[in-house]
Amino acid sequence: MNKKIYIFCGARPNFIKISSLYNVLKKYLKIEIIHLGQHQDFIMSDIFFKNLNIPKPYIKFSLKKKTSLTRTSEMIEKLDNFLKKEKKKISLGIVVGDVDATFVASVCLNRHKIKFAHIEAGLRSKNKYMPEEANRIVADHLSDFLFTTTLNAKKNLINEGINKKNIFFVGNTMIDTLYSNLNNFSKSKILNNLKIKDNKFILLTIHRKENTEDLLKLDNFIKKISKIFYDKKILFVLHPRVLKSRYNLKIINNLIYSKPLNYFEFISLIKKSFLVMTDSGGVSEETSMLGKICLTLRDRTERPETVKYGTNIIVNFNTNKIAKIYSQMKKNRVKKSKIKLWDGKSSKRIAKIIMKKI
Ligand code: UDP
Repeated sequence: MNKKIYIFCGARPNFIKISSLYNVLKKYLKIEIIHLGQHQDFIMSDIFFKNLNIPKPYIKFSLKKKTSLTRTSEMIEKLDNFLKKEKKKISLGIVVGDVDATFVASVCLNRHKIKFAHIEAGLRSKNKYMPEEANRIVADHLSDFLFTTTLNAKKNLINEGINKKNIFFVGNTMIDTLYSNLNNFSKSKILNNLKIKDNKFILLTIHRKENTEDLLKLDNFIKKISKIFYDKKILFVLHPRVLKSRYNLKIINNLIYSKPLNYFEFISLIKKSFLVMTDSGGVSEETSMLGKICLTLRDRTERPETVKYGTNIIVNFNTNKIAKIYSQMKKNRVKKSKIKLWDGKSSKRIAKIIMKKI
């Protein structure tokens, strides 16, 4: 138990991905959680620590800057100072996913010559202007051990010249967290609270930079889908980025807005929805596992397995395509299918490998 692992995280999807991993690794190793502060508020951060059994972070940065790049530079400065004092204690760093905090931790660990692993390595959208793609590329090429959620992600890394010996196909820790909380979702009272009915609503989330910059486009889209889904409610769960972009909340008959929700509430809404529309990567994975149709509001995905074996359909903002799918869905229901190694045991596989490497 002398070895100490430091897990670096910073934003909502990170917390969900580290929950299962932390709870497995802690059986064998001493672990510290370092919170880089990208998401600060209770509803985007603390509630996940509380609900998902993640201990209070060893340190949590408090950030003042507002834009992605200025916050990134603020996180770099703070983490650099922290690592100067702390680096001798760290046997291995772990970074997760593709948020700005992932990029920051990767760059700082590399500068301080601390070995680290990247969880969810190798996803590629092939759009280098997508901030998450840039973050992933940096994390993958600087990390020492790369854990992938799919075989395709492993192939991407090999094609980019990364040594096969350091790449491990282990499955998906976000799906582990979903498995370990299956009993908690049914307890949520969110449907009653929002006054919506089982199977009678569409769950909508939008937060990617490319989709939240043009508010006119967003507005037109919302108006059009409210007509397509005239016989359902549309529950738009707002991400802070949409609120910050001063999106003018339209009052439309069948549209309901909600603040960001806690994990149990949100997953129970996925389960009870008619279908989900989202530009979130993580949500397209969860819907695949839960057998719920997900219409992805992007022109591509870095998670092609969710399309091939799962339930994901790329629709971008094409409302004709959405209308067609909706009319077909009223007739046929979808079948759930399994994505390889998305079985709730990925964190155990990662722990086994890490124990051999440190
Ligand atoms: N999520 C949540 N509450 C919400 C919206 C999403 O708990 O109000 C969860 C969701 O179930 C998934 C994760 O947050 O596990 C996805 O995060 P996000 O969409 O912000 O990021 P992405 O997956 O696109 O990186």
